Amino acid sequence: MNIHAPDYVRRIAPYQAGKPISELAREYGLDEAQIVKLASNENPLGMPDSARAAMMREVAELGRYPDSNGFELKAAIGRRYSVPPEWITLGNGSNDILELAAHALVQPGQSIVYAQHSFAVYALATQEVGARAIVVPARDLGHDLDAMADAIAPDTRLVFIANPNNPTGTFVPAPMIERFLARVPADVVVVLDEAYNEYLPAELRFDSSEWLRRHPNLLISRTFSKAYGLAGLRVGFGLAQAELTDLLNRVRQPFNVNSMAQAAAVAALQDQEFLDRSYEVNMQGLQRLQSAFEQMGLQYVPSYGNFVLVRVGDAPGVYERLLRAGVIVRPVGNYGLPEWLRVSVGLPQENETFLAALQKALTPA
Ligand SMILES: *Cc1c(COP(=O)(O)O)cnc(C)c1O
Repeated sequence: MNIHAPDYVRRIAPYQAGKPISELAREYGLDEAQIVKLASNENPLGMPDSARAAMMREVAELGRYPDSNGFELKAAIGRRYSVPPEWITLGNGSNDILELAAHALVQPGQSIVYAQHSFAVYALATQEVGARAIVVPARDLGHDLDAMADAIAPDTRLVFIANPNNPTGTFVPAPMIERFLARVPADVVVVLDEAYNEYLPAELRFDSSEWLRRHPNLLISRTFSKAYGLAGLRVGFGLAQAELTDLLNRVRQPFNVNSMAQAAAVAALQDQEFLDRSYEVNMQGLQRLQSAFEQMGLQYVPSYGNFVLVRVGDAPGVYERLLRAGVIVRPVGNYGLPEWLRVSVGLPQENETFLAALQKALTPA
């Protein structure tokens, strides 16, 4: 190797995305229309019509740069969460928010705390700034917040918490998060990644934006990729007090969220009907998948997201046989879960296609 690069960059294992439909069709000679993709926790309803219409209106303006400050979208988010625009950071997906936090706050050699089996991007964000990962063992595949608070070191600058977590689907109730926030030193930033918040049943939902007022070190991360159905556009946002938001803004690309994405997100945020339908389709699909796993005698982790982690034993083999049947799910060996597969909730027919294929894939000829 002649090109100089930091060792911490050379050590990064690139993110493994869900296999695209077009790639499976190419590799296995399958018809794209017959393929069911339940691999990336996308919204099976697709994008909302309201967002599509907003984007079509925006097309005429694509010769210009997007609004670098995202005025309209921040106004819509501000109304929704009762926060001023100075508390909002827009991101190219919420992935961007997670990385902005690492870039703005952490120097090489300092540490970042996150849980075993939590979202892969936390490890990537840690490695790309040359930070040291403190990975806290999971308890029952979920976050052990007491252990995470204990693990915070003098050089810790950031803690990542996914709630609900991906890929396990586990959830930590509000009182436990509040207790955790009370324990964390004021100069350590806590990123509360709530990518799946909209899928929580009403009785478990809580308004984490309330906590922002008490905790200047709290950064809440949200996305339009899941329940809002806009994964392909790449748009998410962070909520935090002005001082922290200002720091994130300093390392943000000036035009990190494109104009189509901004327009679509404004529309989607106001489309309560679509959000309600997304919730319903997910809840029914989740129940169907989980009860089928029970009938099949498969261990699974009760999920609070739009996906389920299920234990199939020979996961690489089952994954491969599902691919041949035109069903894409997600192997999670890279998360330290070599016997499990993660399956996203699909439309009713997609769930049935998956379950039938799984039944066959579990008993190879
Ligand atoms: C999907 C997901 C995200 C969001 O990704 P985007 O970059 O917003 O598409 C963030 N956190 C977790 C835990 C996720 O599963």
